[in-house]
Amino acid sequence: MIEKTDVIIIGAGPVGLFSIFELGLLNISCHVIDNLDRPGGQCAELYPEKPIYDIPSRITITGQELTDDLLAQVKPFKPVFHLGQQVDKITKLDSNDWIVETSMNKSIQARCIVIAAGAGSFVPRKIPLKNIGYLEEKNIIYAVRNKSLLEGKELLIVGGGDSALDWTIELSKIAKVTLMHRRKEFKAAPDSVCKMLELENEKKINFLIGQIDNIEDLNNGKIKVITKNDEKNIELEVDFLLPFFGLKMEIGPIANWGLKLDKNLIKVDTEKFETSEPSIFAIGDINTYPGKLKLILSGFHEAALMAQGCFKYCFPDKKNIFRYTTSSKDLQKKLTSI
Ligand SMILES: Cc1cc2nc3c(=O)[nH]c(=O)nc-3n(C[C@H](O)[C@H](O)[C@H](O)COP(=O)(O)OP(=O)(O)OC[C@H]3O[C@@H](n4cnc5c(N)ncnc54)[C@H](O)[C@@H]3O)c2cc1C
Repeated sequence: MIEKTDVIIIGAGPVGLFSIFELGLLNISCHVIDNLDRPGGQCAELYPEKPIYDIPSRITITGQELTDDLLAQVKPFKPVFHLGQQVDKITKLDSNDWIVETSMNKSIQARCIVIAAGAGSFVPRKIPLKNIGYLEEKNIIYAVRNKSLLEGKELLIVGGGDSALDWTIELSKIAKVTLMHRRKEFKAAPDSVCKMLELENEKKINFLIGQIDNIEDLNNGKIKVITKNDEKNIELEVDFLLPFFGLKMEIGPIANWGLKLDKNLIKVDTEKFETSEPSIFAIGDINTYPGKLKLILSGFHEAALMAQGCFKYCFPDKKNIFRYTTSSKDLQKKLTSI
């Protein structure tokens, strides 16, 4: 079934989130899609604990606090989030509406698309071995979406950061887990490191120092992972391999949508931040124009003007009357109706 809305926002980073607010003030509904499994984009993913000093009126605010506040601010507009999925394809209908399709086979129809995709999708760094692509989702899992699939199975988790340790602790409750990392120092929260070491002491998980050397398909549902360290090679037969090597950013499918680009950034006008394709807008780090500054506050300004541009497509017969939130009773009612 195709879901319908006025505007689809691609990217739930700070700029995508603030767009919900600016669109909402103009009675424009929206769905937001992000490849990550939580909102916040770079702020939540790359620097949740770091203070930001140049958000107007906030002397200091961390990446995660900014995300939480933006989510609270947009709550009155009841946005619909589709997380953990990438927008792969967009198609224009004869009616000039757009259909957006995601990697989880979701289709959504809207009058306008707002691309707030930052530096692109966050995608996992993969195992640098050739010819193992066909094992992905079958035996190699880069993002755990369905824990029940792993229940009672033999798992090899690889990595030394928060994701590797958090999943080691969580999955040790339902599966037989081996954790492997290049060394016995970890880049994870100290609490998680203590908990993992406790589990190892209690023999509830195995811990190995090493790296993946090769992977063989055993053709019985399992794989053999050959690991190496300075001393020896070890062979492990497991149901699933879960590598957590961090995330990287890729422009991905957006590059194939026929929009005018300049060095992987989307060209826009500075009146509405519309792209070369009418009714597709691009705001935040993903766009380029003379004088562009990749700052959150620039993205917020772009969101306000983009919303004015979307209004013309969503309500072609209506006149948009500019109103302040301080003096419009109608807007105040909307904003306090949580
Ligand atoms: C370490 C660091 C410190 C920074 N400090 C500051 C600072 O002090 N002040 C400041 O103003 N700025 C700072 N920045 C920059 C700021 O974080 C960015 O300008 C801001 O995050 C851009 O917001 P955005 O919403 O445009 O994109 P992003 O935050 O990058 O979010 C884009 C989202 O789109 C998603 N996405 C992309 N493509 C797709 C797709 N095809 N399908 C589904 N989802 C998709 C991504 O997964 C991502 O979540 C800093 C950046 C870094 C890395």
